[in-house]
Amino acid sequence: MTVRTRIAPSPTGDPHVGTAYIALFNLCFARQHGGQFVLRIEDTDRQRSTPESEQMILDSLRWLGLDWDEGPDVGGPHGPYRQSERGDIYAEHAQQLLERGHAFKCYRTSEELDALRDERKAAGLHLALKPQDLALDPEEQRRREAEGYPYVIRMNVPSEGVCEVDDMLRGRIEVDWAQVDAQILMKSDGMPTYHLANVVDDHLMGITHVLRGEEWINSAPKHKLLYEYFGWSMPQLCHMPLLRNPDKSKLSKRKNPTSINYYRRMGFLPQAVTNYLGRMGWSMPDEREKFSLDDMMAHFDIQRVSLGGPVFDLDKLTWLNGVYIREDLDDAALLKALRDWAFNEAYIGQILPQIRPRISTLSDAMPLAGHFFAGLPDVREDSFADLDLERDTLVALLQFLVWRLETVTRWEKEELLAQVKLLAEHFELKMKAFLAPVFIAVTGSAHSTSVLDAMAILGSDMTRARLRHAIEVLGGVSKKQAKRLEKQYREL
Ligand code: GLU
Repeated sequence: MTVRTRIAPSPTGDPHVGTAYIALFNLCFARQHGGQFVLRIEDTDRQRSTPESEQMILDSLRWLGLDWDEGPDVGGPHGPYRQSERGDIYAEHAQQLLERGHAFKCYRTSEELDALRDERKAAGLHLALKPQDLALDPEEQRRREAEGYPYVIRMNVPSEGVCEVDDMLRGRIEVDWAQVDAQILMKSDGMPTYHLANVVDDHLMGITHVLRGEEWINSAPKHKLLYEYFGWSMPQLCHMPLLRNPDKSKLSKRKNPTSINYYRRMGFLPQAVTNYLGRMGWSMPDEREKFSLDDMMAHFDIQRVSLGGPVFDLDKLTWLNGVYIREDLDDAALLKALRDWAFNEAYIGQILPQIRPRISTLSDAMPLAGHFFAGLPDVREDSFADLDLERDTLVALLQFLVWRLETVTRWEKEELLAQVKLLAEHFELKMKAFLAPVFIAVTGSAHSTSVLDAMAILGSDMTRARLRHAIEVLGGVSKKQAKRLEKQYREL
């Protein structure tokens, strides 16, 4: 048997460090067994998936050196590797399940579903809805069918008993069937859900081992049942521990930058990031902290993964990155790293129009444009003192801007301007007054290049990181304040 593993990201946002972490372990597992590693794009959520996000995921994984043997960009014998291009395959498989009586068409409206859940809640029962709960009386079912009501296809699930799933790290996991609902497999728009598409693709793509995050454990019983319904053997499952913030909460962008773009933009070396991700719950047999991807592949053993939630600690990663710079980069390599990072024509070319109107001698350039080649600027609370704004207003303004910017998918000046205008109106401030604190937060000084252009050039991750940094410098947002701000923000 050839070992085949995969990473199956959904292109719905920034390329997440968690995706790279899972990709790394899948890659090492495949390589250690002389097998193959596949990249599949799970873009069945048509509303949230974007080609930009897909491209960023591919770029980031490649930047980290996590190369795949088959995927949407490199092709392969099991394509297409993008789920949005595999619609017919899922429709066919859903039809098979219907014909074999393993699935049923459900014409329930969302109001009816809410009412059914409320009833169960009131009776103190599990909220999982079973086929028998969802059944309409046959007459009504026929009527809705004849009238062409929208419907979804759901899978049949047992009501009682225990489902046993074997996990490579956790051993046998038991889940009560009572907790598992009649999962939707095909949505009313004809798109498959994650569960159907994932199982069908893992099978058709010959995946033998599924290493994925532990948040998917609850899906395992449904998947196991689907494999049985289709008469296929199931890949071995391995649920990896989730990455955590230093306070042990689930890694979230509120507490830690989670986008690989951020680390790249900040000037981390890909080999250091990959090495650090390899330390997440895993260690080399000799426990050394610094190792290359080749070392990791050569010594990989999945049984050395420990389940205690691995902490993704920015300080440790920064330390390791420094070790790489000092020990591994001679002058030529350091120069190359700097060039790849920001000292290149493409990047500097974007900055020239910003500085040309503002300099008299060439030696003015660096002081003016330094922030384009920096991480978080050295701002302090008193950097904002000259502005005629209360601390709370300042924090609210910056926080709202961060939230608005998180929703921007096309990171262009016009789009940023639209967000800023909207918020300036909300705060009843002239554009200039609204932008003043943003200017300081983003460029680190009150006099610099145009702030909207700077944001456009710096990119989403660095811009948001700088705004968040300014919020911290201003004393941060307490839990109570966050609640209040969130409420105000929703009313915007
Ligand atoms: N598309 C899922 C995700 O976004 C894949 C989960 C899995 O690996 O099964 O993580």
